[in-house]
Amino acid sequence: MKTESPPKSLAITWFADSPDAGPGCCCSLCGDPIIDVPIRMWSLDGELMTADDEPDEARFHATCFTRISYAFTGVGRERQSIIPNTYIVVNGMGLPLRWQDDLSGQLPAAIKAFLSWKPGMAPLDSRLLRLVIDYLVHYIDAPCWNGNFVPEMANLRLRAGQLETAQDVRDWLADCLDIALDPL
Ligand SMILES: [Zn+2]
Repeated sequence: MKTESPPKSLAITWFADSPDAGPGCCCSLCGDPIIDVPIRMWSLDGELMTADDEPDEARFHATCFTRISYAFTGVGRERQSIIPNTYIVVNGMGLPLRWQDDLSGQLPAAIKAFLSWKPGMAPLDSRLLRLVIDYLVHYIDAPCWNGNFVPEMANLRLRAGQLETAQDVRDWLADCLDIALDPL
């Protein structure tokens, strides 16, 4: 019987160069060389930045990109969640639903429990934590964030799907604040 190895955590490596396909063109997801045409994603407008700026090209095997395209589009993530996969359209932008508007009360209760949790306390009830994480996945996948802070957003979206503990969530929220996002 074949044993499945646990899935490797997903992260995107950004590069400061843009080599032609070949041995020197490593995939931003799996790290292997890209021999066929890479799919290239840019942090800004397709121009490589000057040396003192952040690396700003990510490139992928087509199959690798398929796995994580939601990090750039907010669309297509596999998820099982009670949070509706719908967004509030305002001026053509898709904004996340507000957790305060959940009339069932389940999500507000979960988020309030999370907000009163502090490191060192007993672990948060796993069902409540799951609801919080499901909401954060909904929030970070909102199309209104596309095109802003592209590298940071891509990695926040990937990490949102890998959050497991209340501490993970706290760390992730702190990284959201770095780009002025305050999901809760
Ligand atoms: Zn790859």
